[in-house]
Amino acid sequence: MTNTIQYDENNVFAKIIRGEIPCSMVYEDDYVVAFHDINPSAPVHILVAPKGRYVSFDDFIQHAPGDFVIRFFKAIRHVANTQNLCESGYRIISNHGKDAFQTVHHFHVHILGKCAMGSHVGEKTLRCSL
Ligand code: AMP
Repeated sequence: MTNTIQYDENNVFAKIIRGEIPCSMVYEDDYVVAFHDINPSAPVHILVAPKGRYVSFDDFIQHAPGDFVIRFFKAIRHVANTQNLCESGYRIISNHGKDAFQTVHHFHVHILGKCAMGSHVGEKTLRCSL
């Protein structure tokens, strides 16, 4: 285990998965949830999170069963497709740890779309006009 942060059952995404706090859900199955980011950086900004106790991508890819990993990443594509992003394009991002400024320590992938984002990933170039 390379991530020193322990999984916190009370993180905001765990509460969303348990239905304890509301969200704008766009997709849910036995393995994942996908919901709109509360502070969007693009016209489409959806978070996809596994229904499992994984702190980050680093944790998930090391410890989740292979079929779970496949289902998770296929769900990302499914959500992108239902949002009509596959032709225009989209960006997927997952922040792991402090240098990436991960703020919610339940693994999730950001799907960003419906704007031209430029070629760099960073606060100045990620945001596009909403
Ligand atoms: P990260 O910095 O990669 O950990 O991303 C966490 C994301 O979660 C940020 O983009 C937040 O805007 C988003 N977020 C935090 N709380 C909520 C919430 N209750 N519902 C939806 N998105 C949230």
